[in-house]
Amino acid sequence: MSDLLGNTRSSPIISYTELITRERQNLQKGMNFRNDDTRLSVFLMSARRNAPYKDEWDEEKQLLIYEGHDLSAKGANKKSVDQPMTRDSGRLSDNGKFYKEAIDFKGGVREFPLQIQVYEKLDIGVWFDKGIFNLIDARYIDEDGRKVFKFYLTPADGARLVIDDSDYRHERMIPTSVKVEVWKRDKGICRECGANTGLHYDHILPYSKGGRSDDVRNVQILCARHNLQKGAKIQ
Ligand SMILES: [Zn+2]
Repeated sequence: MSDLLGNTRSSPIISYTELITRERQNLQKGMNFRNDDTRLSVFLMSARRNAPYKDEWDEEKQLLIYEGHDLSAKGANKKSVDQPMTRDSGRLSDNGKFYKEAIDFKGGVREFPLQIQVYEKLDIGVWFDKGIFNLIDARYIDEDGRKVFKFYLTPADGARLVIDDSDYRHERMIPTSVKVEVWKRDKGICRECGANTGLHYDHILPYSKGGRSDDVRNVQILCARHNLQKGAKIQ
């Protein structure tokens, strides 16, 4: 299976080492703003039980809601103070930079939305490449007595996406919590052969045939080979 450029599609479940190789940068923060033409901005997200932020995927609206980030100062009670728009220097924080781009797009100042590459954490050192999203809106709202940022993103059909490949598209949109649970249940290996690299999330009953994404019983881990073999059988 290859994309528009003829590249073999890489498997979406990757190690942290592969992630930083792809992004050519150590990503220490959840939000990584980049304003150059060669690299996209990056959001890291986590829906694990102890995750610090409330990121959500709205299946109905096909909308990713990503929470802004807390003050990074040490010692402060981060969850009781407003998420910062600016740094101590008075310049925009990453929250502020993304907020500005979203509002500029909404207000027509930007012709096209800022594009953001999103990765989800599945386990220690294990990530899922969720693909590229468009930043279409942002709010700075009152929540639990303080101000927090909410960023609204929709899936982008970018060059890294394979067209006419709806199962891959739906693999990307399986809720993070389902991915994390299936990852644990299947112990991070292909259910058919035990391979531990080149892994995918597979809908047991395909999405196109009515199979659900939000039910762990309908999702399993398969290697690229078994994923493809199964796809061929169904068609
Ligand atoms: Zn396999």
